[in-house]
Amino acid sequence: MGSCGDAVWVLSPQAALLGGICLGVLMLSLWVARQHDFPGRDAFVVSHLGMGWWLLAAMLEVAAPTGSCKQIFAQAAWPGVMVVPTFWAAFLWQYANSSTERLSPGRLAVLMIMPVLAGIIAFTNAHHHLLYAAGTAPAHDSPHAPMIYDHGPVFWFFAIYLYVFLAFGLWSIARALVTVRGSARRHYLGFLVFTLINISANLGYILFGITVFGFDPTPFSFAITLGVFTWLIAGKGLFDLLPVANRLLIARLPDPVIVVDDAGRIVQANPAALALTGLTRLREGVPLAEWPGCGRELARHLDVEGAGDDDRLIAIGAPPRWFEMQVVDVAPGAERKRIRLGRMLYLRDVTRREQVAEAMRAALETSQARLSTITDLHEQLARQAVRDPLTQLYNRRHLDAYFEDAVAYARENATDFALALIDIDLFKAVNDKHGHLAGDDLLKAFAERLRLAGGARGKAFRIGGEEFLLALPGAAKPEAVALLADLRRRNASAMATRCGPISVTFSAGLVGLEADGEDLDTLLIRADRRLYAAKRAGRDRIVADDAGADVAPVAAAGRLSGRVA
Ligand code: GH3
Ligand code: MG
Ligand code: MG
Repeated sequence: MGSCGDAVWVLSPQAALLGGICLGVLMLSLWVARQHDFPGRDAFVVSHLGMGWWLLAAMLEVAAPTGSCKQIFAQAAWPGVMVVPTFWAAFLWQYANSSTERLSPGRLAVLMIMPVLAGIIAFTNAHHHLLYAAGTAPAHDSPHAPMIYDHGPVFWFFAIYLYVFLAFGLWSIARALVTVRGSARRHYLGFLVFTLINISANLGYILFGITVFGFDPTPFSFAITLGVFTWLIAGKGLFDLLPVANRLLIARLPDPVIVVDDAGRIVQANPAALALTGLTRLREGVPLAEWPGCGRELARHLDVEGAGDDDRLIAIGAPPRWFEMQVVDVAPGAERKRIRLGRMLYLRDVTRREQVAEAMRAALETSQARLSTITDLHEQLARQAVRDPLTQLYNRRHLDAYFEDAVAYARENATDFALALIDIDLFKAVNDKHGHLAGDDLLKAFAERLRLAGGARGKAFRIGGEEFLLALPGAAKPEAVALLADLRRRNASAMATRCGPISVTFSAGLVGLEADGEDLDTLLIRADRRLYAAKRAGRDRIVADDAGADVAPVAAAGRLSGRVA
């Protein structure tokens, strides 16, 4: 190892340039270190500190007076030389993968192994000449002549090691470049340009011996770093609030967001998505279907054929939380939609909405059930309102409404309308002899006979205890008489009661609608008068005029009113 002795140091323009770049790079790293957090910030800063180290050593090498003195600084540059690509590759990888993980002391130590080793080997080069071989010498005899280095085997080993790192970093950005759009694309392009310029400068030097001012051009190419980053930071919003805000937004979003690659493996998940699984850390590359808790359900809905970007409603857990899953294809660009890199699953929590909807459905069902009960009751009431509960014939209340309509119809159509008032003969005696319940049975049976006698056209009413009314719209008096005579014939047979078969006769007063404007009361009074005449004349008869004769006598012998069969 030579010494720098007392020879004259010269701050040449080249040395000043390197010093300026060094200062600029250190200021940049200082500024960046104080910015908002962004992916790979620690690695970015360390890489730039390494760059500063390298530049400082290069400046001193250029300024140094003797060849041996220059070699000392060339050797001193090595930790910086190794740090730059190692940490730059780490930064690119973290940036491309949006990883904001801090550089832990353990990781820092691992990444620093090779730079420290390089420093030791460089420092002890005089003993082994593995890095710079014996052929290393100044380019010419004049003072301050640049050195021509004879690279030893370890130099090439280090070079290969560094290029492996750089290749990894380049692959990370190249991959990211395919997927990103907008300003982020310019950031990646800037990184790519910067890395490629440095690589070109370095390869030009180590493979073809290209130099700048007689020196390795790599440190000079760092000037371009400053240019590229100034352009990115000032013009393209690098390390701006916006990308950080976007990442924060996804991280803090209460709704789960998951990104899967095209093979269905998870590449990203926000804390809300992790919370669904109970995991605290994301294990990248796990197939979605194998995610604990909800993976199978998500994968099943994701693979629904032809579902496209539609919303899919899925339930997760018990009691279920409901999510509306939106699936968006992650594609390089709208114009190349067929290339799908992966999919983003956005799960919107709609549990509250579904619970409310469920409650509404239940409430609707209840009110529908109530409504149908009310309708039934209403119908039942309406039926009961017009019916006599014992015989189920129409009651007196219904008669008024019915009569009005029926008479209006008869008048309009000039048709007949007959009405018969019917009273069971000596019914009191039946009650007295067989009891009230047997009397009820008889009333029911008689009502049924009356209903049948009326046929489809006639309408039977129970208007009093054992008093009935048969309305016969469209029937002229002879037809009505024939109908009542038929009823009397049928009634000749006994009716079944709980006390055995009982026979009764009936008396009837028959009237037809006559004068215009004749109302129900007038008609009933006329009918009642004829009924009374029938009773007076000895019962069991049908009176159809005011003379009081039975218009349909029955020739049967031995007919006794109220007789028990
Ligand atoms: P008439 O030939 O003069 O009509 O004699 P009647 O016994 O039939 O006449 P009355 O008016 O004296 O008696 C009617 C009886 O009908 C009196 C009452 O107890 C009975 N009755 C009224 N409503 C009912 C009822 O709903 N069920 C029963 N079992 N009997 C009733
Ligand atoms: Mg009677
Ligand atoms: Mg009576």
